[in-house]
Amino acid sequence: MSQSILERIKARTPGETEFHQAVDEVFLNVEQVLKENPKYEELNIFERMTEPERTIMFQVPWVDDQGNVNVNRGYRVQMNSAIGPYKGGLRFHPTVNLSILKFLAFEQIFKNALTGLPMGGGKGGADFDPKGKSDGEIMRFCQSFMQELAKHIGHRTDVPAGDIGVGSREIGYLFGMYKKIKNEFVGVLTGKGQGWGGSLIRPEATGYGLIYFAMYMLAEDNDTIEGKRCLVSGSGNVAQYAIEKIIQNGGIPVTASDSSGFIYDPDGIDAEKLAFIKELKNVKRGRIHEYAEKFPAATFTPRDKAATHNPLWDIEADLAFPCATQNEINGEDARNLVKNGIKLLAEGANMPTTPEAIDILRENGVKYAPGKASNAGGVATSGLEMVQNYGGIYWTFEQVDQKLKDIMKNIHDNCLRTAAKYGKPGDYMAGANIAGFIKVADAMVAAGVL
Ligand code: NDP
Repeated sequence: MSQSILERIKARTPGETEFHQAVDEVFLNVEQVLKENPKYEELNIFERMTEPERTIMFQVPWVDDQGNVNVNRGYRVQMNSAIGPYKGGLRFHPTVNLSILKFLAFEQIFKNALTGLPMGGGKGGADFDPKGKSDGEIMRFCQSFMQELAKHIGHRTDVPAGDIGVGSREIGYLFGMYKKIKNEFVGVLTGKGQGWGGSLIRPEATGYGLIYFAMYMLAEDNDTIEGKRCLVSGSGNVAQYAIEKIIQNGGIPVTASDSSGFIYDPDGIDAEKLAFIKELKNVKRGRIHEYAEKFPAATFTPRDKAATHNPLWDIEADLAFPCATQNEINGEDARNLVKNGIKLLAEGANMPTTPEAIDILRENGVKYAPGKASNAGGVATSGLEMVQNYGGIYWTFEQVDQKLKDIMKNIHDNCLRTAAKYGKPGDYMAGANIAGFIKVADAMVAAGVL
């Protein structure tokens, strides 16, 4: 029976390799739960969870600065609304396809359930490359994208946010267009600016939440982040605020990357150097090698697309925080991390670690936290933004930060409690998958077959 569920799902979704990877991982952990709950099997809950409730694909035509008419493909995958409106980011990146968005939307179901807030799972985006585009081109693309997306979302239906390639600038253009089309000012997107409906801490939330989560993991062994050398990949939203929180707590971030390569700063990235990265990436939209030109102690290693491993993960350190993209740590990278003494890896990105790499890390005693638990702070704070928008209120920085810390602690403890209950003590992956699954499965049982 169990075998045939996975076979059926894969036969119906040929070629969707990232989606299959995400489904396999969850199934591995919830198979036992399905066997113990005949109702879940009777109502075919797992298979129904893997089929999006709705998938929207649409044309996004836009005019570039030279007057050429371009076309991209836009998507919104509305995966599961059993516990709340669809919620999940928009990704603008040339690699975006249905498989990637379905894996992200599927993971989002469990992540959102873990936050304890009433949010279903969704994800969307476009195969549009924002790199090298002018502000005007980005604006026209966002407006065209929203012209279609506006028909399918709403503040009680589906509330998108940012992801790779979609930051506060893009959310501004998207929100502006939605407002114009619908003639209403509602919290239909999160990650808005603070003067127009946004929540304090939302920009920081994923990175901050990741480091809070890692600190709770370390505390289980009476350990702290102080003095620990940390490998961080990426230099976007998640990476920047992960680095910031590491510094604030006395850790030493020594790397950052983008798709062109990575920098290694043996002296550590301090607050002043981080300010340079923020300016470089968020304002000038430059490349990470400029860091090594500004700070000579650092080295830049260009990305070698043909290489079988990423030398970033072959640097001696204590903790690892992948914050760039999916499948950025393979088996060879994991072996290098183990060889170099990494004690803990917590995922800031979604699914950055391949299944083989996860096995290698865990077999070698590296504490491992899956993104659906450790990076849930972003969507949790989006949930807090929704609550503030519904009530027309604004909470202070301290209030939101405290709520974020509490949510990350609850997720951490829920993972450990659930893992222990199902005979897998200390297994954050099993705990996250099982706890998230049960919450959504029970809501689907209550709603009946529809
Ligand atoms: P950003 O666009 O702000 O930054 C992404 C970073 O990753 C950039 O440095 C980018 O480099 C690098 N990157 C992206 N794609 C690739 C690639 N194919 N190869 C190498 N490097 C790459 O995105 P975010 O920081 O928001 O997102 C990072 C990760 O975190 C993603 O996996 C996302 O799904 C996940 N996440 C984000 C949340 C959020 O709140 N933003 C919430 C939860 C998870 P370059 O600029 O060269 O493209």
